[in-house]
Amino acid sequence: MAKRLATKREIIENIEKFELYLNGKPNKKNFAKKLVAAGQNFIAYKVDGNHHFIPSRYVGHAKATKKNHLKATGDGGNTTISIGKKLGQKHQSNTELNQKYHTFCQDLSIKPRKEQSSNPRKFWILNYPFTKETLADYHAQLAISVKQSSNDSSKVRRKRLAKRKKVKPSVIFVQTKVYERNPDVISEVLSRAKGKCEECNMPAPFRKKKNKKPYLEVHHIVRLADDGDDTIKNAEALCPNCHREKHFG
Ligand SMILES: [Zn+2]
Repeated sequence: MAKRLATKREIIENIEKFELYLNGKPNKKNFAKKLVAAGQNFIAYKVDGNHHFIPSRYVGHAKATKKNHLKATGDGGNTTISIGKKLGQKHQSNTELNQKYHTFCQDLSIKPRKEQSSNPRKFWILNYPFTKETLADYHAQLAISVKQSSNDSSKVRRKRLAKRKKVKPSVIFVQTKVYERNPDVISEVLSRAKGKCEECNMPAPFRKKKNKKPYLEVHHIVRLADDGDDTIKNAEALCPNCHREKHFG
């Protein structure tokens, strides 16, 4: 028997994994698509503003994965109870969400199982800011918008600024991938640099408030993203100017 859900967080993690399947290799993607087509009760959630749907008998187990799901037996009865408890709501039929479900199926090029009028599809609603946008996507889009803005005259820009009602920024969520770095490499490279930039040999521009140590940044010569090694040989301590120049110069 598959393990029951313990927390709402587990639902979110299951959905994140499921989204990876939907955007993943064909075997994973087809597995996820079949589940969506065959489902009866769904959690409805939004990814970048679009409704997506995950069936209860899949999402309603702890650590829902393709492997665990194929091992699991029994119907979805238990899962509807535990999802209801974790989300604090009953699943209900909902014409609008049913339409969105059909749109989602269309986008995935799948045909939903025929709905019985005596047993309509039912939905829970999960409000959580799922996103496919990465931090790099965000910065790339911002750079395009800045370029568009710079094509206008200062007068046009100032007029636009004067007209806007909102001055506090909205908050958006993005996915971030980080390379886990070895603290010994950072520490050892800083120690090697002895407070001077290893590019221009100038002393660090200031000392850190926190520990009064010279402020330098440890940069990878071959980027980790380009398969560089996280070693002291492939790293150098740079002043912020030299570091920015390495990336943008
Ligand atoms: Zn420098």
